[in-house]
Amino acid sequence: MRLPLFAGNWKMHGTVKESRDLAAGIQRQLEDLEGREVVLFPPHLYLGTVHAALDDSRIGLGAQNCGWEAKGAFTGEVSPVMLKEAGCTYVIIGHSERRHILGESNDQINKKVRACFEHSLTPILCVGELLEERSMGDAHNVVERHLSRGLEGVEAADASGMVIAYEPVWAIGTGKTAKPHQAAEMHLFIRKWLRRNYGEATANNIRILYGGSVKPDNIETLMLQENIDGALVGGASLQVHSFVQIAKVAL
Ligand code: PEP
Repeated sequence: MRLPLFAGNWKMHGTVKESRDLAAGIQRQLEDLEGREVVLFPPHLYLGTVHAALDDSRIGLGAQNCGWEAKGAFTGEVSPVMLKEAGCTYVIIGHSERRHILGESNDQINKKVRACFEHSLTPILCVGELLEERSMGDAHNVVERHLSRGLEGVEAADASGMVIAYEPVWAIGTGKTAKPHQAAEMHLFIRKWLRRNYGEATANNIRILYGGSVKPDNIETLMLQENIDGALVGGASLQVHSFVQIAKVAL
């Protein structure tokens, strides 16, 4: 059984106080985490604040990105070792905003994924097509490329614990959620790719999250789809009420 995972990606939002209040509010309302896992991804600068606010709750902490070297002359980068020390257990890798706005390549994404494994962090590898790519019938090729290039050199023993997030770029922050059958179809495609490359047992352990305008009013239908094992939530994770409603969805 795969434990459903609800991840809140705060992106580049909030102040120290707002981050502390948001984490504390979510923690207060999610005391009973039976049967699911919840992880918050604040900006790097607020990791310490959120870690302290979460205290010893079962809500996890993650980072939105990481460098691929442990240390060195990489101005502006934050290493996986630093993230680990800050209390992170997860790292989002290859988010579409990093791919398409900041020009991150599959090669860099692969280095980051491997660096996570090297330092015992769990990567959440984001994959997903642009609207033009979907319109041209290219969505599967794009997702397949994100998987094969992003996971190059990753062995089944490591892959077993990782998380994939399918995030169609046209659904991120746009209010347009993929229709449940569209999401389900791509999640099945990803599961089959994982089976071919890592075998049945490993593939069945890997959680595949859906991301793209997830809201309290669409999470239930999404979670009814067979290969959707949770959600990567952006906008709706910035308010206690909406994120808690999503994370508390009936399973
Ligand atoms: C995201 O940040 O990964 C995301 C899916 O954002 P939103 O929920 O706002 O579409």
